[in-house]
Amino acid sequence: MTRPLRVAVVGSGPAGVYASDALMKSSTDVEVDLFEKMPAPFGLIRYGVAPDHPRIKGIIKALHRVMDKPELRLFSNVEFGKDITLEEMKDYYDAVIFATGAVGDRALPVPGADLPEHYGAGEFVGFYDGNPLFERSWDLSAESVAVIGVGNVGLDVSRILAKTGEELHVTEIPDNVYEVLKSNKATEVHVFGRRGPAQAKFTPLELKELDYSPNVEVIVNPEDIDYDSSSETARRESKIVDQVCTILENYAIREPKNAPRKLYIHFFESPVEILGEDGHVTGLRTQRMEYDGAGGVRPTGRTTDWNVGAVYSAVGYRSDALPGIPFDGSRTSFLTSAAASSTRRPPATSPPPTSPAFTPPAGSAAAPSA
Ligand SMILES: Cc1cc2nc3c(=O)[nH]c(=O)nc-3n(C[C@H](O)[C@H](O)[C@H](O)COP(=O)(O)OP(=O)(O)OC[C@H]3O[C@@H](n4cnc5c(N)ncnc54)[C@H](O)[C@@H]3O)c2cc1C
Repeated sequence: MTRPLRVAVVGSGPAGVYASDALMKSSTDVEVDLFEKMPAPFGLIRYGVAPDHPRIKGIIKALHRVMDKPELRLFSNVEFGKDITLEEMKDYYDAVIFATGAVGDRALPVPGADLPEHYGAGEFVGFYDGNPLFERSWDLSAESVAVIGVGNVGLDVSRILAKTGEELHVTEIPDNVYEVLKSNKATEVHVFGRRGPAQAKFTPLELKELDYSPNVEVIVNPEDIDYDSSSETARRESKIVDQVCTILENYAIREPKNAPRKLYIHFFESPVEILGEDGHVTGLRTQRMEYDGAGGVRPTGRTTDWNVGAVYSAVGYRSDALPGIPFDGSRTSFLTSAAASSTRRPPATSPPPTSPAFTPPAGSAAAPSA
């Protein structure tokens, strides 16, 4: 008797859900079990995307449509490596797909990084998005803060720090987050990138909307608007890079808006030390960089101390290793071909996990929807 192919997918973020969808849309007769360590699905769309970005959060609707398919079951509150192992999965499934994302903050390797007011962006995002695995409260007593990293996560963090609690109250932020954001003392947010405007990783829409708040003034120093030949080439070759540069140029030359909270975007400033006194952050030292003539930047030796009471680093996320899955620690990524071959074995003989041999932990949603 033939039976459907049984596939387990670990991680119910967009990658896991869309991989499940692709399988179910294929010509193969397939049943998919989705395993998720959190109580609720959708990964960083739920616990990463900023609350004032409802358009992006809206993709949850499309993910729900996949979850409603009868061939798919969700087991939430089940952590791979703790509640279920690869060996156990091999007994139940013909294939296992790992889609566990990248949630850990990449380290900022500078002296002072261990001071308590230095935070990884992911920790703060986990707080304001109400992730139950993260802090429930946050110290927002610093009047001036630094954000390191010129990508969209850096923008999210700086925008949430710059906006007022009232502006964010209309979003779906939990009450405890609103109470904390309401007490935010920050009136200056300084964002730092070590290279130039053409190397920023912002997207135009997110960069432009920074300025929509009547309470926030985005400021760029005209001296930081500088391009070498590889920057010019990047602008010519990419519409996105060109749009980002144009928006930054406009921020640099426009008349002051006189909004009460200032959000400065600095380029060519590389963090060299988080300064502290009595065990607390008192500042950030950066070193001025310049183009090196070969498409990169080099240090000039000139440093600046910025008087800030907290530092948030948004310098990238990393994947974490999973027990039994080949992993490249230096690149913090899975060795996909090796991982795939490790699950290649004779077809699963046990029924999928509704049998007495596997009891989904209490609280799991073994129903075919989210
Ligand atoms: C702060 C931030 C803001 C972002 N903003 C935007 C934005 O505005 N627009 C946009 O398009 N993208 C945005 N992104 C990117 C987007 O969120 C990610 O690209 C996307 O979520 C990645 O999907 P994924 O499925 O690979 O991983 P994830 O969304 O991280 O999902 C992985 C899932 O695996 C689960 N998991 C992990 N380990 C285990 C385990 N051992 N057992 C079981 N389950 C496990 C996790 O709980 C999670 O649910 C943002 C990302 C971040 C971090």
